[in-house]
Amino acid sequence: MTTVSRRTFNKTLTKAIGGVALMSTMPMACALPDTQKKGLGVALVGLGTYSTYELAPSLLETTHCHLAGIVTGTPEKEKIWKEKYNIPEDNIYNYDTFDSIVTNDAIDIVYVVLPNAMHADFCIRAAKAGKHVICEKPMAVSVTECEAIIAACKKANVKLSVGYRLHSEPHTQEIQRFAREKTFGKVTYIATEAGYPSNGFPNQWRLNKALSGGGALMNMGVYAIQGAIYGIGENPISVRAQEFSTNPAYYKDTDETITAQFEFPSGAVGSIFTSHNAKADRLYASCEKGWYELDIAYTYGPLHGRTSRGDEITFPHKRQQALQMDDFALHITQGAPNKVPGSMGLRDLKIVEAIYKSIKEGGTKIPLNLG
Ligand code: NAD
Repeated sequence: MTTVSRRTFNKTLTKAIGGVALMSTMPMACALPDTQKKGLGVALVGLGTYSTYELAPSLLETTHCHLAGIVTGTPEKEKIWKEKYNIPEDNIYNYDTFDSIVTNDAIDIVYVVLPNAMHADFCIRAAKAGKHVICEKPMAVSVTECEAIIAACKKANVKLSVGYRLHSEPHTQEIQRFAREKTFGKVTYIATEAGYPSNGFPNQWRLNKALSGGGALMNMGVYAIQGAIYGIGENPISVRAQEFSTNPAYYKDTDETITAQFEFPSGAVGSIFTSHNAKADRLYASCEKGWYELDIAYTYGPLHGRTSRGDEITFPHKRQQALQMDDFALHITQGAPNKVPGSMGLRDLKIVEAIYKSIKEGGTKIPLNLG
């Protein structure tokens, strides 16, 4: 996120934590008339900060899908969203009526944007209703839950993706290309950092383990894990981890800051940093013949980076979430690759669980068998 959008984010976070992300603070958005709605219909489940300020506006920019429905536990939001996005009454659900979405042909994809501990329940219900599923990150709060989501989607023969928007983002795709083609030789060391301060809002669900499954690691830490893996193009084979707390009274239920070190099959090593108390947004890969880095690596963009050749990594900015949802729609309709399959969300939860295990055991090395 830029400085300006970070400020907007913090402002809107305050409101969302109050329970209702008020649409009146939203950037102006014009709903498309029905005749211009293209592609697959998406229903957003959970109309908090991310749906309000990123996903719904992005769905006005998509080509292969559009905002068709909403699922909310807050009745006041129904009318506001209905008017703002021209959503038919029949496509509006609450958490109790959600399962009746099975009969609604206008909804093809259900996008679950709820607190992490609610992902599995709603993704499984969406699959049972025969809808394709996008599950926000982290995919769930445990490996077991991720496996249950994958099994439900498989059983229902529906497609599943995780909300790792950066796989559709051009700067990130350039980093993935460097790793794949070994443009600067083999990566020997990778360092990734992702975090932001979340102080000032002690009642937010992200600090409540029952709803979040964990703190910084579950929130931005999964991005640091992602970056370490796509920045080198390999899955790690072991991890050691440490936890730090400067304010245990505030971060009493969830982790404040975590560092972890990976070993990769190629012999490369990596380190990740994540925090709910420090701003961090970087990916750096040291290679045999040079280096590449993104020093805005994980936020909503525009991202930015450079390489040891002296060139800038820079591409025109588009909303990452619009690119992400269009890619998933093309996967469903045209068999394009699923850039973020459920197996990727599951892999990351295996790493998350190993990191928490290592911390519990005083930083021991935990082997990873991720294939
Ligand atoms: P938020 O707090 O702004 O919104 C959460 C929504 O869930 C609200 O509409 C709230 O009413 C609803 N909700 C239902 N039951 C709730 C409960 N028991 N407690 C709290 N809220 C409840 O959160 P958000 O920032 O929109 O995050 C939602 C999901 O999206 C999370 O899984 C988060 O990790 C993910 N997310 C992903 C990205 C990304 O970059 N991919 C960015 C932000 C959030």
